[in-house]
Amino acid sequence: MRIAFVGLGNMGEPMAANLVSAGHEVHGYDVAVAAMERAVARGVKAAPSPAGACSEAQAVVTMLPAGQDVEDVYMGSDGIFAALSRETLLIDASTIDVATARRLAAQAEESAHAMLDAPVSGGVIGAENATLTFMVGGSSQAFESAQPLFEAMGQKSVLAGGPGAGQAAKACNNMLLGISMIGLSEAFTLGERLGIKPETLFAITSAASGCSWAMLHHLPIPGIVETSAANREFRPGFAAAMMLKDLSLAQEAATGTGTATPLGALAQALYEEFVAGGGGELDYAAVIRLIQERAPPA
Ligand code: NAD
Repeated sequence: MRIAFVGLGNMGEPMAANLVSAGHEVHGYDVAVAAMERAVARGVKAAPSPAGACSEAQAVVTMLPAGQDVEDVYMGSDGIFAALSRETLLIDASTIDVATARRLAAQAEESAHAMLDAPVSGGVIGAENATLTFMVGGSSQAFESAQPLFEAMGQKSVLAGGPGAGQAAKACNNMLLGISMIGLSEAFTLGERLGIKPETLFAITSAASGCSWAMLHHLPIPGIVETSAANREFRPGFAAAMMLKDLSLAQEAATGTGTATPLGALAQALYEEFVAGGGGELDYAAVIRLIQERAPPA
């Protein structure tokens, strides 16, 4: 299949490379020259613009930072919608707001293209190893057509519902993850101050009702869980700034639907404080430092 890939960053580069490995012809574009060079070294053909990548494409995948970038790349004068010459499957794998995802899907439908919002879980390692999970919004027909692409880039894909449902599922999941990480940070800080060694508390809670995915994979304490960023001075992984973005998207969705998410709001405020204090480039598990340094309530 001839595929256009726009956004060849930390996630996009290995995802595009996995499409090449699966035998597809991938034409890629990124505003950053260094990103383009890395992708070309992995078999992606360089295109001069999103439009240049898309003109003959049967499918388009985008992996961009935020909603505004995605909107610009699809709607701009040198953008994707203006360039498509035939019916094309459009997959936006970026994590963005539900409203933008729905607006773009409506625009795609008007031009007779099928569009899926398909944000991912699994991080850079999942992108590299093709073990990502895709959370998908759109029609079941488009979801079926996208299977070969999801299979080349990931391990699992789930159709969550109509347009925007993939982004909605991602916002709910990451709100829960952010809350879990803060809860873990509090429990392990308290445990240590009560005299329980972290490895003992882990042995107990990982086999008890307090256990969570974040605990088993991203425990914010070094030397216990192999995959934790705490073992490498909190180099990401999944950056705290990204977690803040996702928590903000969840709050936007909560406001838009009149949903009370008090813990989600508090998690957003705590990550905001952590990022404002210079922690944005660290892994999201480093938020334990904020908890450890905080003065106790008066
Ligand atoms: P990144 O910043 O490494 O990559 C984004 C790329 O898009 C960059 O190379 C940038 O130059 C390019 N870009 C920006 N504007 C552009 C434009 N107008 N045209 C072409 N290229 C443009 O970010 P990433 O870590 O690859 O994340 C991409 C998306 O995936 C984000 O929405 C993020 O939230 C989501 N995500 C990331 C992770 C992770 O662990 N990194 C995990 C899950 C989801």
